[in-house]
Amino acid sequence: MCYACPGMGFNDYERKAVQRAMKTETEESAVKRLKISEESAVRRVKILEVLELGRKKARVLAEGAPFHAAGGGQPGDTGTLEGENFRAEVEDTRKHKGEPGREDGNPSLSVLDIALISGPETLRAGMEVTAKVDGARNGILSRMHTGQHIFSRIQENANEGLETLKVNIGTEESAVYVRYEGEMTWDSLFAAEEKTLEAIRADLPVETLLMTREDAEKIPELKAKWDRIHSEDIRVVRIAGIDATACAGTHAARTGEIGGFLVTGFNGSPPDWEVRFTVEADGRLAEYGRVTRRLLREVGCRPDQLEDVFLRQRAENAALRQTLDKARAYISVPWEERSVGASRHPLYLAVLPGMTKELLSAPARVCAANHPDAFCLVLLPDAPAFADAPKSKSKSKPKPEPFPFLLLRGEALSVDLSGLVREFPELSARGGGKPDWLNGMTTQRSVSFWLDAIGKKCDQNNGL
Ligand SMILES: [Zn+2]
Repeated sequence: MCYACPGMGFNDYERKAVQRAMKTETEESAVKRLKISEESAVRRVKILEVLELGRKKARVLAEGAPFHAAGGGQPGDTGTLEGENFRAEVEDTRKHKGEPGREDGNPSLSVLDIALISGPETLRAGMEVTAKVDGARNGILSRMHTGQHIFSRIQENANEGLETLKVNIGTEESAVYVRYEGEMTWDSLFAAEEKTLEAIRADLPVETLLMTREDAEKIPELKAKWDRIHSEDIRVVRIAGIDATACAGTHAARTGEIGGFLVTGFNGSPPDWEVRFTVEADGRLAEYGRVTRRLLREVGCRPDQLEDVFLRQRAENAALRQTLDKARAYISVPWEERSVGASRHPLYLAVLPGMTKELLSAPARVCAANHPDAFCLVLLPDAPAFADAPKSKSKSKPKPEPFPFLLLRGEALSVDLSGLVREFPELSARGGGKPDWLNGMTTQRSVSFWLDAIGKKCDQNNGL
């Protein structure tokens, strides 16, 4: 985010503009203002140094590149570099790190991460290339960033004590991380979203003002993290009547350019919250609309009833789970006694179609504990793999559905069960566990395969 961003240095273009403005300034004003015109997105730049060189990638130090460097939550610009027999794609732009005492670095220098497309052997220090910014990508980042300024200020004004900590501007979605002791709610976010949209509809100018630190400090309600700004030159982004923030990012020229604003979600608990949004609201709303209409038809209710229906179902689900938890203690499993291996170890078997593993794991443990010299095998054919997962539809060729199994042994036995499914592929099983406890999914319904495998494992263990 802009105002948390330590790099406030001017680039050459801005420095000259300030000098021009200072010459033509007739009156002394508290704030020296200047609207920065759009910088040219195509420029000749000089590669000063090849910092790293790989087969397909390189990192170079460039002078005068038009790419905006990553900082304050806005990612670096991308674009292309083209020279004679040379072409590279700029994948990221970073600030040139300055020497100690001048942490802002030299603003006319930037570090570019590039992918070498053609003529990598021609890349060398001193070469001049034509640099072109991916303007569409920068445009969306600028709109997202400007929307964030408005939204953050509206949220801060509406909720006492709410503080924007950082932002993460993206092309699809952006995130604002806030500190707020109160409860974040959809209602408060809808209200802030509506006010942000009002500011967008008002098509207010977004001014970038260049000024000294002294002048900036005089602006009432300027948002700036002074402890993180080392430069004497301050860039202030002002949206009339709404916000003024010290910011080094790129922005739309007018609020109308932002286009839209939609809060897409939020997470967290007091005091740490994350709110996500996009400025490409139309496409996202259409997507949400399609999902909602499908769901409404499935549920068979009106849109305003959907939340109630869901919450009621969730409560019913929780009550059912509680009932099952209580019922678990009364489950009596019809164990069938078998034996395995040359030593005829007892094995308690339960094949219970349609039962879930959750209900059987406790009785299986009790069985193994009560019979320390025995195995305990539970096969649950046709039980859903996951209680909540819908069954997959439309299969070209019906495959046997995997179902859960459990295998335990009593503590008097020493056989290690953990490698069983790997060593006996005929069990068609996947899963894992411990030496005395195995659990997973299988398609092997035939009990004899299981008894054979466990018996062989016993015999191996007994050295037979
Ligand atoms: Zn900004």
